[in-house]
Amino acid sequence: MGSPDMENIEIAQTLREVANLLEILDANPFRVRAYRNAIRTVQEHAVPMRKLVEEGADLTELPSVGKGMAENIAELVETGDLSLIDQLIEENPALVDRDVVSSLIEITSIPGIGPKKVRKLWEDLGVESVEDLKEAASEGRVAELEGFAKKTELRILEEIDRLATRTSRFRLGDVDELLPPLLDHMRGVEGVRRVEVAGSYRRRRETVGDIDLLVLADDAMAASEGLTSFDGVDRVIGAGGTKTSVSLRSGLQVDLRVVPDESWGAALVYFTGSKEHNIKLRQRALDRGLRVSEYGVFEIPPEEKDDVVGERGVASSGAIVAGATEEDVYESLDLPWIAPEIREDRGELAAAEEDGLPDLIEVGDLKGDLHMHSTWSDGRNTIEEMLAACAARGYEYFCMSDHSKALAMVEGLDAVRLRQQWAEIDGIASRQPEIRILKSMEVDILKDGSLDLEDELLEELDWVTVSIHSFFGLPAAEQTERVLTGLSHPQVNVFGHPTGRIINRRGPIEIEIDEILQACAEYGVAVEINSHPNRLDLRDTHAWRARELGVPITISTDAHRAEELDLIRYGVEQGRRAWLTPDDVLNTRPLDELLSWAAS
Ligand SMILES: [Zn+2]
Ligand SMILES: [Zn+2]
Repeated sequence: MGSPDMENIEIAQTLREVANLLEILDANPFRVRAYRNAIRTVQEHAVPMRKLVEEGADLTELPSVGKGMAENIAELVETGDLSLIDQLIEENPALVDRDVVSSLIEITSIPGIGPKKVRKLWEDLGVESVEDLKEAASEGRVAELEGFAKKTELRILEEIDRLATRTSRFRLGDVDELLPPLLDHMRGVEGVRRVEVAGSYRRRRETVGDIDLLVLADDAMAASEGLTSFDGVDRVIGAGGTKTSVSLRSGLQVDLRVVPDESWGAALVYFTGSKEHNIKLRQRALDRGLRVSEYGVFEIPPEEKDDVVGERGVASSGAIVAGATEEDVYESLDLPWIAPEIREDRGELAAAEEDGLPDLIEVGDLKGDLHMHSTWSDGRNTIEEMLAACAARGYEYFCMSDHSKALAMVEGLDAVRLRQQWAEIDGIASRQPEIRILKSMEVDILKDGSLDLEDELLEELDWVTVSIHSFFGLPAAEQTERVLTGLSHPQVNVFGHPTGRIINRRGPIEIEIDEILQACAEYGVAVEINSHPNRLDLRDTHAWRARELGVPITISTDAHRAEELDLIRYGVEQGRRAWLTPDDVLNTRPLDELLSWAAS
């Protein structure tokens, strides 16, 4: 076990577990904080740690990485494991073994139960696992503990139930980090000619359950062995024939299917479409006397007409009509090719039939990014560095939108510093006129709905984004009122990351989204699709509703460092899932049109 080639996300995950474990063990808070800081560094670092280690780089040059942490990272890179955990077990006999360690750590995944609470539960009640905790809570023993109310106990039970039913889905951005080494590996397997990921990953859904990997290969057995021999494989679930399933160290399950050449397109269609999309395709095929499966589109011979199901895995005995390419498959059903992002049965077949498929937005349609941060607040790069990065991406303009003063912990700008920033922007603009820096700000909507910047300054800004970074827990009526008040300010241009959710970590704030979108339409305020793959806020269905209501949409990155400008593709993909065309998105417009929209 334990193997090299750990991705940064996996290294960070292990370090996070150690930090939680240290906290459970009541370790020195400085030591715990050192881990938390290092985790951030690892997670955000653009270059894989394994590459740095390979190149013999000095890891202590990374922010917040000391000598001990550098050794941890190197050990993880080289062995996939940390001997520190065994050492902690040795020093703390109560930990017993690694199973106890991992079940204690698992308890910290229950929302509201941090490591300190786990420590208390462990020490006072002997709770060592989620099951133990469930039992103790059902018996009312948790509420008797100091610092745990009856309310907490009920919440624990609820959350445990929720955990049990929650299918663990991976965030799309995390999968994009985990997959490339696997795909490279598979492409290098002898006889493998083509590798493609289908499923919800190809539809670019915000979270992905498992990976449907399709390959064309000269030798199915060799392809299967290629997968099971991949370094990142933790466990082989099943191998052989045309299907092989493994679980990666990250927990992600990969199902490999070796597909015959003549079925490649049919398999792609079959394993990409949502279930509902596929059902509609099958019905459409039947109407034409055809049967569609993962092997192709077949004529239904007269003697089989009664067996209309044409279920998965059943090759028809009729003649094959199409299958080698996706285009052929759709064409055999009198349809044009349909983009994977919209194969969700939201009307795409009807639209395709009427030649009315949307002209979906692409990254290249965007002329600027309207939301990013610099070192003036919590960004890592200077304005000039952000400018260079935007210019390199061919943008015509970008918004320099640092935080307002309510976000004191990230040094949000007050009036004095905002004016200083403008002076710097003016200086840069005079030297580098090739790209327009829009003076902007991400202004907090305060608890009472007022904006965190004086009106005179709001009026001077080229572009005003407002968003919520506090009081996430207000009840729906109050939260909605707060947002509506904020959006009604005449200087507001766009509502940033409207629901505030962080996928798999923090739920959306409670707002009446429809009411808010209607108000946006009325006030002439746009809504943002925040492209960060951990946010993707608005989500696809809300962006869809915004489009229906005629609310203009912006797609921006909220980049806190130059490389994050590349995350724009996630926002665009989310937009495509909402059927957005370039016309629906404000930052596809040239600068003068954008500014005249803002002024109107
Ligand atoms: Zn924000
Ligand atoms: Zn921001």
